[in-house]
Amino acid sequence: MKNGNSKHVLVAGGAGFLGSHLCDALLSEGAHVIALDNFQTGRKQNIRHLEREPRFDIIDSDIIKPLPARLRSKRVKIDEIFNLACAASPPHYQADPEHTMLTSVVGTHSLLTLAEATGARFFLASTSEIYGDPEVHPQTESYWGNVNPTGPRACYDEGKRAAETLTFDFDRSRRADVRVARIFNTYGPRMRADDGRVVSNVICQALAGDDITVYGDGSQTRSFCYVSDLVDGFVRLMAYDESFPGAVNLGNPVELTVGDLAEKVLAMTGSSSRIVTRPLPVDDPRRRRPDISLAKKLLGWAPRTSLDAGLKATIAWFAEDQSDDNKAARKVATLGGAVSAGRV
Ligand code: NAD
Ligand code: UDP
Repeated sequence: MKNGNSKHVLVAGGAGFLGSHLCDALLSEGAHVIALDNFQTGRKQNIRHLEREPRFDIIDSDIIKPLPARLRSKRVKIDEIFNLACAASPPHYQADPEHTMLTSVVGTHSLLTLAEATGARFFLASTSEIYGDPEVHPQTESYWGNVNPTGPRACYDEGKRAAETLTFDFDRSRRADVRVARIFNTYGPRMRADDGRVVSNVICQALAGDDITVYGDGSQTRSFCYVSDLVDGFVRLMAYDESFPGAVNLGNPVELTVGDLAEKVLAMTGSSSRIVTRPLPVDDPRRRRPDISLAKKLLGWAPRTSLDAGLKATIAWFAEDQSDDNKAARKVATLGGAVSAGRV
């Protein structure tokens, strides 16, 4: 722990996959952390190890509702607000699209207003989905994107675009000091077995010996970042002390096809699972790779964990995770519905 850090930090979405790792990183720097989460996709297990940590607290609340009185008190001290609250996996964010949209719009507005009232610096966890099915490759921050505003992904993509708009407007009117990260596909320990995103799906399916579901012909690409690299980028971006640099891409530029990812996980697990194909979801982006020149220049940041090392750690974590809630949920969520996966 670093000495003398008496920062008070609010992490909305702090019981989620990325949020819980961020809480760990902030606590290890000596900060006081309040996590706020509605446990829609977050898990108690992700923060259980912090139960006895005196500098950590968790509030069970939904950011589309009025913030808890404790946060609205005039005496509350908050130096930084990270807004990570929002289901991030397609099956989860599409399950209640209205709630997803309101989380990004109403929830972000509420947290920006709290930042204005407290003078806290505000951080938005935005997304590469801002770029939709991109016509520019790799994606630079100056690209405006190619998003279908009415399709099934729109509740998430357009919600995040609106959240960025609000955040930029609070900056323009000098109501809050803001930072915006555009996060590209990130994976690692503490993902839910039923998260539904491709890395957790293929790993859980391979470990269970179940069919590995590749959507479409598997030629669509993604670029996968390991969680500890991403969280390092979050901390650096929040600490960036010059004026608002605009949105900053954070992700690992190593791009591969979904088919190749499935083959790689099969080889790494030694699984006898078969690869089966399922229909490509509507509006599924065909390719995605971040241009991270800006993050390199401003933050001196670049991912350090290779895909092999990150997958190895994630596979080992899923193989060992015996927490009741994740064990019970050893059925993989797919966009076509749940695929049951007998647990190894
Ligand atoms: P996650 O689903 O594990 O985490 C989201 C957390 O927010 C969960 O704990 C959930 O319970 C909570 N939450 C959702 N709606 C809420 C609400 N209305 N009020 C309070 N809490 C709420 O997903 P994640 O991968 O950890 O993503 C965290 C953030 O990063 C999200 O905002 C997501 O959009 C963004 N992001 C993630 C990725 C990625 O690859 N992991 C990529 C791009 C953007
Ligand atoms: N995908 C897949 N099988 C799965 C889950 C996802 O082939 O079981 C594909 C999905 O269609 C997409 C890619 O993997 O092309 C990444 O999907 P994910 O949901 O992880 O992230 P996103 O689409 O939001 O980038």
